[in-house]
Amino acid sequence: MSPVAPGPFREAVVDLDAIRANVARIADVVAPAAVMAVVKADAYGHGALPVARAALEGGAGMLGVADVDEALALRAAGIDAPILAWLHDPGLDFAPALDAGIAIGVSSASQLEQVAGAVARGAVPATVHLKVDTGLSRNGVEPARWDTVVERARELEASGTLTVDGVFSHLANASDADDDAQLAAFAAALEAADAAGLRPTHRHLASTAAALRRPDARFDLVRVGIGMYGLTPYGDGTTGADLGLVPAMTLRGRVAAVRRVGAGAGVSYDLTWRASAPTTLALVPLGYADGVTRHASGRGSVLLGGAVRPIVGRVAMDQFLVDAGDVPVETGDEVVLFGDPSTGAPTADEWADATGTIGYEIVTRIGPRVPRRYRGAP
Ligand SMILES: *Cc1c(COP(=O)(O)O)cnc(C)c1O
Repeated sequence: MSPVAPGPFREAVVDLDAIRANVARIADVVAPAAVMAVVKADAYGHGALPVARAALEGGAGMLGVADVDEALALRAAGIDAPILAWLHDPGLDFAPALDAGIAIGVSSASQLEQVAGAVARGAVPATVHLKVDTGLSRNGVEPARWDTVVERARELEASGTLTVDGVFSHLANASDADDDAQLAAFAAALEAADAAGLRPTHRHLASTAAALRRPDARFDLVRVGIGMYGLTPYGDGTTGADLGLVPAMTLRGRVAAVRRVGAGAGVSYDLTWRASAPTTLALVPLGYADGVTRHASGRGSVLLGGAVRPIVGRVAMDQFLVDAGDVPVETGDEVVLFGDPSTGAPTADEWADATGTIGYEIVTRIGPRVPRRYRGAP
């Protein structure tokens, strides 16, 4: 037996140079609009802190996260760039966030009062971005209440309680016509804010999808998540590569066992697959506990021995099997689940298509048992 090549059992390698290059590429496309790098959910599973640093180096001027805890963790780690957090626990005390200089996305009249209350009790004056619902029906101030909210915000601004640094909304990215309607609603909301005397520096609406395809949605700032990670926001077959982007995450492991089986051999729980001819099976030590969905059973594929080979049988909690055919494979060989297509590996976008989801979910759900390793300049 030849010596087993050294390498980790399983790991997600994150290429920080790819993050930098993707941000720089998007910044170039959207200029003069600025870029907010969205690093919520541990940077879509890539690691919030290293990705935040790389994104800022790539030209992002601001970071975006969902909740205040994510923002505070970045501050505690020494990130001093502007950070916006926009999804809040209803009972949250905003004081720690305000004192840490976190900008607050405000989605309702009561949230505005909650922020003002924290300042009244001694927190530093707030920086807020008012969010208006332009048609997604998620969070954001309802259009009927917008006038009241902007007037109250202006009052609080005049009293020195807060600064309205931004006005924003979020698109459904359903169709051009739906985007048009949301753009019109956003323009009306901006007018109302202006009429109330607000002069926000950052008007923002687009995430990656509209940032790349709708120049009229770029305003002052675009909020970029998925594109920065090198994946596509579109469900139309457009790949990250088509957009000039490089997938930053490679999910890989080492073959844990190899066996030759005869025709008729059944594979994995429920024996949903049987070999139709003698073949070689390779055991891969990643399973649904690691975020490799059970929906990939019989659908996903991996790069093994220089070829793209199918997953056969059920994906289990810790492991799955690949039909290596007659490709020579040995225990310890590298297996790549997804990564940069220029290496011959499947992409996370292809995994998404094969398993009925989106690339966002493929990378974000990679579990805590998979160590992240960083490549590229730190
Ligand atoms: C997650 C998120 C984004 C980033 O979206 P991408 O499609 O990943 O670019 C932007 N804005 C808001 C409000 C978000 O929640």
